[in-house]
Amino acid sequence: MSKFYITTPIYYASGQPHIGHAYTTVAADVLARYHRLIGDNVFFLTGMDEHGLKIQQKAEEQKKTPQEFVDEIAESFKLAWEKLNIKYDNFIRTVDEKHVEGVKEVITKLFEAGYIEKGKYEALYCVGCEQYKTRSELVEGKCPDHLTEPELKFEEAYLFKMSKFKNQILDIIKNDKVRIKPDSRKNEIISFLEREGLNDIAFSRLKKNVYWGIDLPFDGDHTTYVWADAFLNYLTGLGWPQDKEKYEQFWPPNVQLMAKDIFRVHATIWLSMLLAMKEELPQEMFVHGYFTSGGQKMSKSIGNVINPLELVDKYGADFVRYILLKEMVFGSDGDLTLGRIAEKYEADFAKGLGNFSSRVLKMIEKYSDSIIPQDEKQDRPILDSKRDFSENNEAFWALYEQNLSGYAYNLVLSHSVFNLAISENDKYIEQTKPWEIAKSGNEKKLFAVLYYLAESLRQITIAIYPFMPETANKIREQLGIKKIDENNFDFYNEIKWGGLKPGTKIGKIEALFPRIEN
Ligand SMILES: [Zn+2]
Repeated sequence: MSKFYITTPIYYASGQPHIGHAYTTVAADVLARYHRLIGDNVFFLTGMDEHGLKIQQKAEEQKKTPQEFVDEIAESFKLAWEKLNIKYDNFIRTVDEKHVEGVKEVITKLFEAGYIEKGKYEALYCVGCEQYKTRSELVEGKCPDHLTEPELKFEEAYLFKMSKFKNQILDIIKNDKVRIKPDSRKNEIISFLEREGLNDIAFSRLKKNVYWGIDLPFDGDHTTYVWADAFLNYLTGLGWPQDKEKYEQFWPPNVQLMAKDIFRVHATIWLSMLLAMKEELPQEMFVHGYFTSGGQKMSKSIGNVINPLELVDKYGADFVRYILLKEMVFGSDGDLTLGRIAEKYEADFAKGLGNFSSRVLKMIEKYSDSIIPQDEKQDRPILDSKRDFSENNEAFWALYEQNLSGYAYNLVLSHSVFNLAISENDKYIEQTKPWEIAKSGNEKKLFAVLYYLAESLRQITIAIYPFMPETANKIREQLGIKKIDENNFDFYNEIKWGGLKPGTKIGKIEALFPRIEN
């Protein structure tokens, strides 16, 4: 049994959960569930980044204390993850007392070791991004994400000597000591480091400007800069430094998922901090794109914002998990429109998986008295041995695992699950016509075909489980077999062809996906 520690970024608590948050978190949840399924010891961390100027300002605008403000936002995120069926092991918040203690301890150590020194900084700072900008990042002098001119800042601050780590980080990334995926991101950060190098970075703010932050332990006039505080969640989320048990078990992260906007700060600030702390580095960072809608950036003014929670209310959590991962190609941007979503629900869920499942179960009800028949292998017609699920079972699962561990969620879903497992077997029903075999009275042949289809359906439930856990277990109930308990599942035994026992009585057949009016 190996350990698997996966993180999402902690989300900045300045607004409600949106589709980008949902994408990262669902992607992490799928991997976490898959690793639990194969028997790994999993820790899945997500949470909230709750300090900083922008939150302070938003709370003031709404006449709330920052604490009240972030408490409300944290509740909406927790609710969102509940609705999307996200099974995290910890939801870390940077206002948690233990996190605050941990940050103070690290900052003090870095200060004592000479990695943090008092100085001044002059920098372009975008309040919207909570990030410094280099001139080359600006478009016509403005932040490309916020279309505002960054503020030029010049004030006293404690600086983290990040410039020391440039060569080390280059070596680490070039030699895959931290694997950056996809390759385009790796190349991008290498050329950034080679072109611009690394500057020292302010790790504090004057408290009179930013009071909503963690006090610097060695200077009461300063609070900790928000990134310096936030990145440490990946450690404090394991209970470190107070309680080292989970840290010893799970550190370092096997993979850290993030959207492309925060990749650079991870590759520079976060890795530099770990090097200064002499902590082991994460094994991998996976950087994904954004969703557009109808080819345009989602925005309130265009009116094309897709709210993932409204989709859950309409289509159910499993479909939303599915559509997010199916419509974004690993490493690229994805596009979603409400029309496309409705179309995919109808085609893939109602007509695809839902229809296949009910066809198979109804034939077993009708032709085999609701009992899974004997598998009469030798009597079953194999129409295309290259596409036959039974003949290619090992190859199917090998490809499934290869694609999933390479984050090619869209390939797992479209190619393996919906094409090979569902469409091909649906075609098989059309071609073998079990209803005609039944009329001809060739029971052995009929049972062989029915067994093959029912076993295919059982295999499908395992393949879809990490993505659509509720649907997988609903199908299993209807098949009359045990639900999947991801913490207790003999994966490599279960995926062997033929696990469905003849004689099993199937359950009550119910529609999996209701028709939805549009
Ligand atoms: Zn900005």
